[in-house]
Amino acid sequence: MSVKDELLQIDLNHGEARVLFCDTTETVQRCTDLHGSTPVCTAAMGRLLTGTAMMGLMLKGEEESVTVTMKGNGPMGTLIAIADHGDIRACADDPTVQLPLRKDGKLDVGTAVGHRGTMHVIRDLGHGKQYIGQSEIVSGEIAMDFAQYFTVSEQQPSLVALGVLVNGPTVLKAGGLIIQPLPGCPEETISQLELRSPLFADLSREMTFENMETLSREWFQGLNPVILERNPIRYHCSCSRERMEKALISLGRKDLLSLIEEGQGAELSCHFCHSRHFFSTEDLQDMLRRAETGRSGQESPHAEDTDKEMSQ
Ligand SMILES: [Zn+2]
Repeated sequence: MSVKDELLQIDLNHGEARVLFCDTTETVQRCTDLHGSTPVCTAAMGRLLTGTAMMGLMLKGEEESVTVTMKGNGPMGTLIAIADHGDIRACADDPTVQLPLRKDGKLDVGTAVGHRGTMHVIRDLGHGKQYIGQSEIVSGEIAMDFAQYFTVSEQQPSLVALGVLVNGPTVLKAGGLIIQPLPGCPEETISQLELRSPLFADLSREMTFENMETLSREWFQGLNPVILERNPIRYHCSCSRERMEKALISLGRKDLLSLIEEGQGAELSCHFCHSRHFFSTEDLQDMLRRAETGRSGQESPHAEDTDKEMSQ
């Protein structure tokens, strides 16, 4: 039975706490297929995608998006995930890292990402407004790092569980859970939730046996769980030839001129979906002309976002 990826927003005890619970199996499978990632890298990127997807679905405005960057000291280098509501994409400097399993038989995500470093979160609120938060990586296992981020940077204590179950190139199950007590939540409910946290420890495995509705009824029994909303999630990259053109223009006159002089044109490839676009020397000359007449300056491009997506 194939169920499309989705996120459930669940209320507990009439507004005492909120739960985000999602299945991201197909999204993580698509990520793995695109990047040809090894199991440990699939687990790392899958956890980051899933956490970011949940943050993306917390966004209110239509034009808002969230970018989570993990710069750890592990061999995978920098990991980036971007969510525009339910549309998610991710990339890593090196998605082909191979590591021995940990002593407990689990994939060593913490070592792949790195046990130290920083996690940056940029919420793009549209119209050029951004909210930027940062916290230290505490384990590189990602769920703990998200929890640390919510507590330190947003003063919102959160219980976060993320799981990706992999068999070679196949993602058997991927999913995540965020529980946040809301203002005025009684201590008793908080301690009830803390007591239940071992239930979510092996979340992706649990999700292979039961659907999300059944699991949420079991896990939050006695706390009046009510599903408020269901939102679809998918791997989707919003890059286009037009956005790549903007990235090239944002290089500036000097770099554009040197590309024109080299006479080889420029090929750009998107880090998130690997689509390629070729720009001929004539295209580049045309861009330079337009940049110089200032036509490209009318619209303020989100240079930071496009920069990250582009490479030559
Ligand atoms: Zn793309």
